[in-house]
Amino acid sequence: MKLSELLRGETPSLSFEVFPPKTDTAFESVKNATEEIAKLRPSFMSVTYGAGGGTSRYTLEIAKNIKASYGVPTLAHLTCVSSTRETVRERIEAMCEAGIENVMALRGDLTPELEGSDRSKWHYRHAVDLVRELRECGRDFCIGGACYPEIHPESTNQREDIKYLKEKVNAGISFLTTQMFFDNDLLYNFLYKIREAGITVPIIPGIMPITNANQVERAVKLSGSFMPRRFKSLVDKFGSDPLAMKQAGIAYATDQIIDLYANGIVNVHVYSMNKPDVAAAIQNNLSQILKK
Ligand code: FAD
Repeated sequence: MKLSELLRGETPSLSFEVFPPKTDTAFESVKNATEEIAKLRPSFMSVTYGAGGGTSRYTLEIAKNIKASYGVPTLAHLTCVSSTRETVRERIEAMCEAGIENVMALRGDLTPELEGSDRSKWHYRHAVDLVRELRECGRDFCIGGACYPEIHPESTNQREDIKYLKEKVNAGISFLTTQMFFDNDLLYNFLYKIREAGITVPIIPGIMPITNANQVERAVKLSGSFMPRRFKSLVDKFGSDPLAMKQAGIAYATDQIIDLYANGIVNVHVYSMNKPDVAAAIQNNLSQILKK
């Protein structure tokens, strides 16, 4: 099922993200975790491509398995920045063979090695180049892209960030998923600005449940997200007690999601990080809301 159809619905829905294993030996345990999450019957599941420490090799295998075994629509991520045109074309072909209908077109992060390399030789500099490749390959993919309520760390200002976002959407994007954020007002402000700029595709807010104190530093470093005082006090108070921190992190994420639904957001994406217990707890907290 194409996510563009699914996102037209008006009933609140929840989707989850998983990432492929870091090593071959971890494959079975990651597969089991993704299957446990699929059993929750989310509206869809996304499978990252190399992000979060996972390797890219298993993205398609996991996405294919979730769809075939559990009937859950999947979104396979694909990055392009360090790839040649031939490699990207091979991957697109492999996605077609795996029956993937939905692709998240991403640039990928600039690793320190890439920062120093000769950019004039790159086949893909930005995600928009991959969107164009996916549109021109003759396959009818539903393409998603990333957006940043608190601007992308490399952007100098939000106006510029939104200008390039619009260019990416116009190249053929059907929906956007946001970077994590911990203050919903930042999302509402961003939505206002992008709608004003003429970006009309559905936006899926991405919520990261912080369930252990170690995650905080990494999440902030990765996303540059603002930590509201309410969130900081929660980490200060419960960070050293793993079970309490987990409960508080799930409650905070649930609270954010309820506020999003209450303000008209239809689908929320949870960065569930291969944690079926966290995904299940959040879904359970929303059981009556998701029925409406
Ligand atoms: P782009 O859209 O190319 O934007 C990157 C920067 O370039 C921005 O500052 C933008 O303003 C600027 N820019 C864009 N177009 C132009 C242009 N034409 N000229 C000049 N500047 C331009 N990483 C992974 O490795 N694997 C994943 O699976 C993954 N999944 C993700 C999912 C989500 C929802 C998000 C938010 C991020 C994900 N990432 C993933 C991380 C992502 O790869 C990084 O955030 C990366 O730095 C930017 O990717 P992008 O697709 O947003 O890039």
